[in-house]
Amino acid sequence: MSETVQRVKISDLHAGMQNVDIVGSVVSLQKKELKNDRGESVYYYGILGDETGTISFTAWMFPSTVRSGDTIEIKRASVKEYKGVNRLYVDSNSEVIMRPGETVQVKRSYSQIKIKDISMTQPYVTLEGRISNVKQKELERDGKKTQMYYADLDDDTGRIRVSSFDRPLKEDGFVRIEGAKVSEYNGRFRITIGSRTSVAEIKPSFKVGERVYDIREISSPIGGITVSGFVVSMGEKSGLVIRCSACNQRLDDIHCPDHPEAPISYDIFAYFNIDDGTGNIQCTGGKNVFLKELGFTDEQFTPANKAITRRSVFSGLQEKILGKAIVANGDVSRNQAGLSLRLSSFSHVDEEFVKKLMTHMEADFQ
Ligand SMILES: [Zn+2]
Repeated sequence: MSETVQRVKISDLHAGMQNVDIVGSVVSLQKKELKNDRGESVYYYGILGDETGTISFTAWMFPSTVRSGDTIEIKRASVKEYKGVNRLYVDSNSEVIMRPGETVQVKRSYSQIKIKDISMTQPYVTLEGRISNVKQKELERDGKKTQMYYADLDDDTGRIRVSSFDRPLKEDGFVRIEGAKVSEYNGRFRITIGSRTSVAEIKPSFKVGERVYDIREISSPIGGITVSGFVVSMGEKSGLVIRCSACNQRLDDIHCPDHPEAPISYDIFAYFNIDDGTGNIQCTGGKNVFLKELGFTDEQFTPANKAITRRSVFSGLQEKILGKAIVANGDVSRNQAGLSLRLSSFSHVDEEFVKKLMTHMEADFQ
């Protein structure tokens, strides 16, 4: 093995390099657990940056004390091409050293993309979209008060959550956000507007309308999309959910262990798969989506109504959605099983549409 260590900058990395020594700032960091027949293993992946650029990395060993924003030195890493992009590999031969007190200014290289093309391999992006659902919250950071703004950003391909430090976001305003940081939180993408992000009002150059996707096109956890397809299966634990009215937790029994005296309330949860001939995706939905479909108002859907049983809610859902063609709107999130669509609304489709969908699906099986 060659012992020639090369101290390099990120912009000089190319595929095939070995024994690379690099100092950089951890822009993002995720831990992943793998289970296979040989047991469990853990690896880390993320993005490392320096003053010349950023690169994604995969690490089979990594100090558990390292956090996003830390400066580290990696010795004896290698660079390989993965899916057409250079990637830094840290293996058992490598060494990762913390460099506390050192700061590296990360060069932000970013291009303008659509919301559907957001991915964790591009840590900073430029997006244009419409701001809505603005909420404001005061935070204390290092003894200083900061205003945080949270909102949705919509373009013609999807929706994403935005957090902004100190920079107000205007309801219904169209903006160009340059150099926002991308992160994944609770299985959903979001972007952050920080001190080095620029925000400018623009005239809209696109329409924010219904974003209809073929299921096979859905590859990332973005919000505000529409798909249509047949409900091909429904989860057997779908149906009536009993909750404690005091703490709202889901109960197996009719008494909450923490609030045995509190009355219970009724809720609905359903999970099912829809297929549109191009692919299938798991969907979930709650009371807001299905109550009307089951023929109840909020006032009628209570434990006082003895006509409501676990069996009646399950078979009601089965009758209304299983095997039916539906149009579903919602937000995609990533969980252990892959991507899933949380419905905010759904509707049945008319016969004409069903015929078109059938042709689409049959063509797929030929
Ligand atoms: Zn409770």
